[in-house]
Amino acid sequence: MSPRNKRKLKKAVLIPTYSLLMLLKTLTDFFRRGQHLPSEPIVINPNEIRIWMVGHATVLINFFGITILTDPVLVMSLPIPKRRIVHGYKAEELPPIDYIIISHAHLDHFDLRSLRMLVNKTKTIIIPKECSDLIEKMPFKSTTELHWGEILKNNELTVTSYQPEHWGKRVPWERQNRGYNCYTFERNGRTIFFGGDTAYGQHFKKIGQNHQIDIALLPISAYKPMFMELHHMNPLEALDAFKDLKSEHCIPIHWGSFRLTLERMDEPPRLFKDQAEREGIASRTHILPNGKSFSLPGIFETDNNLQIKTALI
Ligand SMILES: [Zn+2]
Ligand SMILES: [Zn+2]
Repeated sequence: MSPRNKRKLKKAVLIPTYSLLMLLKTLTDFFRRGQHLPSEPIVINPNEIRIWMVGHATVLINFFGITILTDPVLVMSLPIPKRRIVHGYKAEELPPIDYIIISHAHLDHFDLRSLRMLVNKTKTIIIPKECSDLIEKMPFKSTTELHWGEILKNNELTVTSYQPEHWGKRVPWERQNRGYNCYTFERNGRTIFFGGDTAYGQHFKKIGQNHQIDIALLPISAYKPMFMELHHMNPLEALDAFKDLKSEHCIPIHWGSFRLTLERMDEPPRLFKDQAEREGIASRTHILPNGKSFSLPGIFETDNNLQIKTALI
């Protein structure tokens, strides 16, 4: 075949076929289910801060013996898409929950089916403003709406709400404006930051100036095509946010479970890890597959030592 005919063939057949195959692959990804990975056991310990990755933005936090569950989504599929990697824990495998804390009403964060599964084992649910109507028929013992700058404080926990760079309507055509939050959780002099869903913004620096954050939970996906970055961080921006927050450790969230946008499923954690290594901060970043956990170093050992010393005296 002459070079000219080869070029014609490439243009007329190979390129369209390749494009069609890539499109089909992307579409099938949206509907494909993932496989189950073995999960670590959940043990609630009063001397420890441990975070289990349940999946997407859902993490279970053992915060010195109290339990916090963020943005619980435990179902196998959202309206679109299906789950690619099975969540780490089913509702019945989770311990009693002291606080469910929800960042905003988007379907991948505020899942009514999952909340119905959890309502009988949950003490308190914290939601953004103007979201109560979504759960009014669920018998939660205590419901608190928090708006930006508002604080829920009791003997065991302080939760402060902040404005991220995002938006709040459950679906774009909804009339009602709803709140959208990120949070700090404080207990026994330790602070965890939960980013929810957010683009990169100035809020990280401000929060970092006012808190000594131990662990930052930061979203790293849903950034392609480019206009999605108006509302979501890419992995490099998440690392900038980690530095702005001046947090000791960072756990990326909002990746790997659902294919929401056009980047490859494995791209966000890969870019995050590579950049963290380049910047020499990889040892303070922890990419947790669903069902795996991270324990804040230092706390458990210190308290154990104290207990041993007390026993010896
Ligand atoms: Zn969102
Ligand atoms: Zn989201």
